[in-house]
Amino acid sequence: MRIALIAHDKKKPEMIELCREFRDKLAGHQLFATGTTGGLIREHVGLEVHCFRSGPLGGDQQIGARIADGEMDMVIFLRDPLTAHPHEPDVSALLRLCDVRNIPVATNVATARLLLSCL
Ligand code: PGA
Repeated sequence: MRIALIAHDKKKPEMIELCREFRDKLAGHQLFATGTTGGLIREHVGLEVHCFRSGPLGGDQQIGARIADGEMDMVIFLRDPLTAHPHEPDVSALLRLCDVRNIPVATNVATARLLLSCL
């Protein structure tokens, strides 16, 4: 499966924790991420990840384009709902595309665990 991993800044520690927990399962899939999130996963978990641009610089839109083209099978997007993000329209657009394409998407760790358990 092609899995996209994205985490807002305050959620990055949770993303790393999640990737550690599911490291063995994730290693058997193609992983994609926004720039900073992907770099941290590589560095701290040692998983192979294709990094797009950083979220605020268009990474969310790059992943959205993959979803629109039917080239992404699952999205884990750990959102921080308590902080304003300058690229919020991109975030909303990406989630909308998941619903358009019927792609499983988790926006918090509890749902992410459920989805990753199914891999
Ligand atoms: P980042 O982007 O992984 O490059 O920080 C995530 C985002 O803010 O959408």
